[in-house]
Amino acid sequence: MNSLPESRQQQILALLQTAETLSIRELAAELDVSQMTIHRDLNKLAENGLVLKMHGGVKLAAESIAAKPAAHTCGMCHQPISSRNAFILDCPDNEQIGACCPHCGLMMQCSENTPRVILATDFIYGHKTNALGAYYLIGSAVTVCCSPSVLAFASPEDGAQFQRGFGGDLMSYRQIQAYLRNIHLEGRHDEI
Ligand SMILES: [Zn+2]
Ligand SMILES: [Zn+2]
Repeated sequence: MNSLPESRQQQILALLQTAETLSIRELAAELDVSQMTIHRDLNKLAENGLVLKMHGGVKLAAESIAAKPAAHTCGMCHQPISSRNAFILDCPDNEQIGACCPHCGLMMQCSENTPRVILATDFIYGHKTNALGAYYLIGSAVTVCCSPSVLAFASPEDGAQFQRGFGGDLMSYRQIQAYLRNIHLEGRHDEI
């Protein structure tokens, strides 16, 4: 059994795909490591928005989000949401709001409190990734729905490679959010 933390975390995610919820004890037994080790792995995975810890166990964040009635239209612009580009906010009041793309998603907020999990869709691989740790290419030649187009990438290398081919600016979550808020405020002719 490979016990590198990274590969063990991948194994935990794989196990969670086969069972809806698993306890720390079950995971420790399955992977033949201590509960403390599992505990640390889960903290890391939860930090990255990949799992949700609940009383008595843990489950995949994407799974629990998928189990809720999915939003079909964008909460900002009301265009249909395709899973290819979806941006999802999982709100504390159990409400889930979706956006057609990161452009709209980065402008959305939960009605109260901050979202528990924010997921973006990696534009190359199509998997959900923690939006806070993702990289965003704005204003590239690839326009999916909203303009300026914003594409999400889980890794900065993928974003940079895409940028070399299609142009645009690569930004972190904080940078792009500030940038979009600015252009939308300008659009309303508000003083900043
Ligand atoms: Zn939208
Ligand atoms: Zn859009």
